[in-house]
Amino acid sequence: MPHQDLSFETMAVHAGREDLATLGVHALPLDLSSTYPLNDLARGGESLELMAMGGQDKQNPVYSRLYNPTVGRFEEALAQLEGAAESVAFASGMAAMTACLLAAKQRGGHVVAVRPLYGGSDHLIASGLLGLEVTWAEPDGIREALRSDTALVIAETPANPTVTLLDIESVVAQACGVPVLVDSTFATPVLQNPLKLGATLVLHSATKFIGGHGDVLAGVVATNAEWATELRKVRVITGSVLHPLAAYLLHRGLPTLSLRVRAAQEGAKVIAQKLKDHPGIKAVHYPGLEGGDPSGLIGTQMRGPGSLIAFEVENFEFASVVMGSVKLMTPAVSLGSVDTLIQHPAALTHRVVNAEAKAHSGIGPGLLRLSVGIENPDDLWADLEQAIVKAMAKTGIHA
Ligand SMILES: *Cc1c(COP(=O)(O)O)cnc(C)c1O
Repeated sequence: MPHQDLSFETMAVHAGREDLATLGVHALPLDLSSTYPLNDLARGGESLELMAMGGQDKQNPVYSRLYNPTVGRFEEALAQLEGAAESVAFASGMAAMTACLLAAKQRGGHVVAVRPLYGGSDHLIASGLLGLEVTWAEPDGIREALRSDTALVIAETPANPTVTLLDIESVVAQACGVPVLVDSTFATPVLQNPLKLGATLVLHSATKFIGGHGDVLAGVVATNAEWATELRKVRVITGSVLHPLAAYLLHRGLPTLSLRVRAAQEGAKVIAQKLKDHPGIKAVHYPGLEGGDPSGLIGTQMRGPGSLIAFEVENFEFASVVMGSVKLMTPAVSLGSVDTLIQHPAALTHRVVNAEAKAHSGIGPGLLRLSVGIENPDDLWADLEQAIVKAMAKTGIHA
């Protein structure tokens, strides 16, 4: 039974578990089979052919690169949470992005993308590795960037690493019918549903909030049946499948996704304000702060500002001392875990992005990105504040 009429929290607990009672189990089963017994050769061959073209045959999986029930249940759940017809899971967020680009390439050789994007996505699109041409557009210049062979418009909101918000409805309107992909990793389905605003594909690095515990690498795309078929076809051909153990862990974590996202968000609101009030900090980028959401997208497009904060300090040395002095937080890339991570985008996640593009997006030597976890914000602030005080002393910056 689909749960579309239920609230998000209820859906997150029950989605993708519809067949468990019939199976006679209560917890999610983990099916690690790489292959499946074939009762009938002719039927097996037909199933293989169907799935090689992106179709599904849950009754006759044949081989785990074609279908795996543990992965399938997670996909069913994620589709429900995004209000999508289907979702397709991949080995990582980058595998998911690659599959979207390869599927788009069947329709045309050009994409339009809005910066900033996650550094890896920027690298993939800018590299030309997949044989697609790209036009980088300003948020209000998408329409002008379209060509007759534009197959996809790519946007990320909130954007990594600056937490800049894009108006999804405006992106969709400017795309003039070209499918829009929104990377919604920072928002999760708890805080926004891009498909309801007209996007065709919503991508998550499930490595982040959806996994939520820093122990899974995964990606997922929620979309309509037509694109899902194309994406499964690419996945079968290229082999970028999600491991069933990873799918099991992701699905196991979905019931607490909303609790985790909201608890981290409450902590982030506190930390963002304290950063803003601190004399050692030059600027704070967080849509939950007064003036931090000039387009008024919190409360309309998004149900909350999330738990990522970007903030600017004096210079690289200051940033480096802060990252090296935190004790409770972990100096590490990635985000969306129950624990707090701090990283330096220009030196790490966005290192490979073109220098002018970095400067244009505000990814400078003094920018730090904080992914606030679910720890008590008072403990987090005590840790961050002592690191900031140390950096002020070391770099000779006085309040
Ligand atoms: C991390 C990230 C990705 C890439 O995901 P992986 O799971 O690391 O491959 C894509 N988009 C955004 C916004 C990310 O933060």
